[in-house]
Amino acid sequence: MENPDALMLEVPCSLCGSKEADVLYRSKATASAADAAHFAATTDVFGLYGTLRRCRACGMVYTSPRPDPEALLEGYRTTEDEDYRRESESRCMNGYLSLALLRRHVRSGRLLEVGCSAGFFLNAARTSFEVTGVEPSRWAREYAAKTLHLPKVVETLQGERFPDAHFDAAALIDVIEHLDDPRGMMREVARVLRPGGFLYLVTPDIESLSARLLRGYWWGLRPAHIQYFSPRTLKTLLDKAGFETVLVKSYGRIFTWGYWLSRLSNYPRPVHAAVEALVRLLGLEDKFLYLDTRDSMQVVARRR
Ligand SMILES: [Zn+2]
Repeated sequence: MENPDALMLEVPCSLCGSKEADVLYRSKATASAADAAHFAATTDVFGLYGTLRRCRACGMVYTSPRPDPEALLEGYRTTEDEDYRRESESRCMNGYLSLALLRRHVRSGRLLEVGCSAGFFLNAARTSFEVTGVEPSRWAREYAAKTLHLPKVVETLQGERFPDAHFDAAALIDVIEHLDDPRGMMREVARVLRPGGFLYLVTPDIESLSARLLRGYWWGLRPAHIQYFSPRTLKTLLDKAGFETVLVKSYGRIFTWGYWLSRLSNYPRPVHAAVEALVRLLGLEDKFLYLDTRDSMQVVARRR
């Protein structure tokens, strides 16, 4: 999926619009970052996250330069990810955990998920809600429709023009860090959500302990991630869009031991090989493990 025509653009701060920023981390190999597919893939391409800048005015961290928005969207349209589906049981479980937290605030009604991928969270959510998904990947939309039989998954939110205050709840799970214009997205989500409705959002935390300790080697730094929020910058974004943040807490996930191990494969071989051998020995590869590395945050916010 090489796209040699993808333009790399220098961009201002995604939160406040300032152009004054310092380089925070710069990965050694940036040449292939021109391939928009890397920015769109859910896979790790270790060490190819490009140049991360921290805004001098507001502290927001973002990737610049990066492919133009149309190239990014085209990358997502053509994304296919078999690894994603391979962990479908885990993703169903993660969906139920998220749903349990959201349902403490809103128990039924219409729910919108932006970036629903293959639809595992929506499938859990339809036990309580009438669900609508937004997902640019044709492959993921087809999975959601044909395998999970989800009734409505559309390509883009802006393209659909839902009425004002149409939804009671909205979710963006591991999505906002991929967006070229998070402010525009949150304004549109606020428009389609009724006053008093709730937003559930998950994203990596650039100010978490592991991000600060591992610095340029943190697993949260990926080519597909172009916005890096902290609890403070995320609250600012939500406040500007018309939301009051009511809860911020760390977000743990369930995956098989085999999947967690694959996430370690970018780290020094002796460490990885030793853990892998032990897990094989104990026969744990396909067993599930809940792990909270405390570097992703889940946020609940209320539409004002
Ligand atoms: Zn800024």
